[in-house]
Amino acid sequence: MTILPYSRQFLDDDDIAAVVAVLRSDWLTQGPAVEQFEQAMAAYVGARFAVAVSSATAALHIACLAAGLGAGKRLWTSPNSFVASANCGAYCGAEVDFVDIDAADGNLSVAALDAKLASAAAPHVLVPVAFTGQSCDMAALADRAARYGMTIIEDASHAIGGSYGGAKVGACAHAAMTVFSFHPVKIITTGEGGLITTNDADLYAKLLRLRSHGITKDPALMPAADGPWSYAQVELGFNYRITDLQCALGLSQMAKLDNFVARRQYLARRYDEALAGLPLSPLIRHDDRFSALHLYVVRVQANARLDRAGLYAALAARDIRSQIHYIPIHTQPYWRQRGFAFGDFPAAEAHYRDSLSLPLYPGLSDAEQDRVVAALTEVLG
Ligand SMILES: *Cc1c(COP(=O)(O)O)cnc(C)c1O
Repeated sequence: MTILPYSRQFLDDDDIAAVVAVLRSDWLTQGPAVEQFEQAMAAYVGARFAVAVSSATAALHIACLAAGLGAGKRLWTSPNSFVASANCGAYCGAEVDFVDIDAADGNLSVAALDAKLASAAAPHVLVPVAFTGQSCDMAALADRAARYGMTIIEDASHAIGGSYGGAKVGACAHAAMTVFSFHPVKIITTGEGGLITTNDADLYAKLLRLRSHGITKDPALMPAADGPWSYAQVELGFNYRITDLQCALGLSQMAKLDNFVARRQYLARRYDEALAGLPLSPLIRHDDRFSALHLYVVRVQANARLDRAGLYAALAARDIRSQIHYIPIHTQPYWRQRGFAFGDFPAAEAHYRDSLSLPLYPGLSDAEQDRVVAALTEVLG
């Protein structure tokens, strides 16, 4: 039997032709496809600016720097995320801390944030994570950001194609910057790749410089030019550039983005119905938010015949690869060395103990999904 992964990319002949066309062109990197992809993304999400980079991790790093994060400053994020959501703060030399999640949807809890703000100095940067592709309560977070002077960088690595409050995720109505990932397990892919959207012209200019070594050709920022060849490094940046090969793939994938999300929505509703009689609880999907549904996460109920680890193994024995999202970041050895301990964020730890992400991707056929449902029914029913 074919192995069913928890996620995988969907590529067609148009994607392959788009990449081959770049291979036959003059520009493999720093050519026209990068700007085309950025403009298409900005238009799609409804933001003024987009900056494409080599990964979402790179995007988070330079977004933090553009927001002024550095030594002596603080970043808070969700413990229920990939480590990159916290590492970006550490890269900048900032103090990193976490805000526990809401058990219902796995997103950063506004109540936990309020409790923490009442007893600790507010962070300079807050990184809410749109877990599974569903936005956090961004209006409430933006309200707290305004009151406490926090800059919101939304980690929407799961969420391209989703919407919140009538606008696409990435429109930045409630965040200074939004970050997307195009790793192959995410909604659309560029192989590796990430992107930042913003409506702020100053942040945009800063992100462009930080992506490429801190170099500018803007005469207003440079010392007097020696000649037409001149450029100036005005700050310390990186090589976080993305290639034209990747951006051509991204543009081609964008043509399928809404269909990908629609297929994910369809499969999720099918899981909802088929699993209703089993001791599994799906996460809450709020009526007022449209999730891109990167993940379909269930919690294994305490009365189930198998616990989460047992269920993971039973599925693996049937060639179904589920996944766990996430091992709480603060329990990772690196973060424990920095002072965190088991017990610090109990809701994220309880979520980790019970949760499992079932296969969900646009290329998953109805029959393959039925195989997953049959296996779950066999071992839990
Ligand atoms: C995948 C992911 C990242 C990192 O994305 P890369 O493009 O692989 O660097 C960051 N945050 C979250 C929530 C992710 O899921």
